[in-house]
Amino acid sequence: MKGKGEGGKAKGEEDFPLVKLVDVHKVYKLGEVEVHALRGVNLEVERGEFVAIVGPSGSGKSTLLNMIGAMDRPTKGQVFIEGQDITKMSDKERAKLRLERIGFVFQQYHLIPWLPAIKSVEIPLMIAGVPPKERRKRAEALLHEVGLGDRMWHKPSELSGGEQQRVAIARALANEPEILLADEPTGNLDTKTGAEIVSLIRRLNEEKGVTCIIVTHDLEVAAAARRVLYLRDGHIVRGQPLAKVGKEKALRPEEEGEGA
Ligand code: ADP
Ligand code: MG
Repeated sequence: MKGKGEGGKAKGEEDFPLVKLVDVHKVYKLGEVEVHALRGVNLEVERGEFVAIVGPSGSGKSTLLNMIGAMDRPTKGQVFIEGQDITKMSDKERAKLRLERIGFVFQQYHLIPWLPAIKSVEIPLMIAGVPPKERRKRAEALLHEVGLGDRMWHKPSELSGGEQQRVAIARALANEPEILLADEPTGNLDTKTGAEIVSLIRRLNEEKGVTCIIVTHDLEVAAAARRVLYLRDGHIVRGQPLAKVGKEKALRPEEEGEGA
């Protein structure tokens, strides 16, 4: 039920936002202690958007991304992907959803140390049942696309941080997901390399139409997005398209009131 492909959009697909969160709460329990990581998040993301989520450390950014990416379930509230409530899905159904429709990129790349880049990208294709020849072809094309055409057989230890992140992005895109989620993808990179990774993600958003949601505490990175959501203490305190309010103001929820 991807609703993609030759026939165009599936009937009814347009009726729903791609992502919708309704009053999402997440409480982590650590023995006696409860951490209220999300406190009633409401959010809609349309197809093709590039959204940045910013906020201080501990504000719930990763938790929020994990909710959208079906990695974890909210304590309360609903998460819809194309109108389907994913909180009601079984673990197996959620794993299928993640495999087919969501790509995840992390700060630490999470590549398997002994696998060359090409194999890393082939793994999600293998899990999805793509035959070997087709796998290889698609993995090669993806690595070319992220600028690693000449590094396909390099292992993570033979690649720079930026190159490893490119492999991770190619892997995330292997099954042509509709949504790319990136949690601090530039957090381990120097400014210049980080900027290159962000422009790669942006290009994928613009050219392939992949909906991108990127968590960052780097305002330069956030500035590449078309919409910035500011998270604090488990709430979205402000979200505005950058074009409307200007980059600086969009990132300063305290200065509500003027300009917008
Ligand atoms: P951010 O990504 O913005 O730094 P997180 O979503 O990681 O924030 O964390 C939000 C809050 O939830 C923090 O107080 C954090 O300590 C807590 N937290 C996150 N993950 C867990 C977990 N698995 N168990 C317990 N507490 C957690
Ligand atoms: Mg985090």
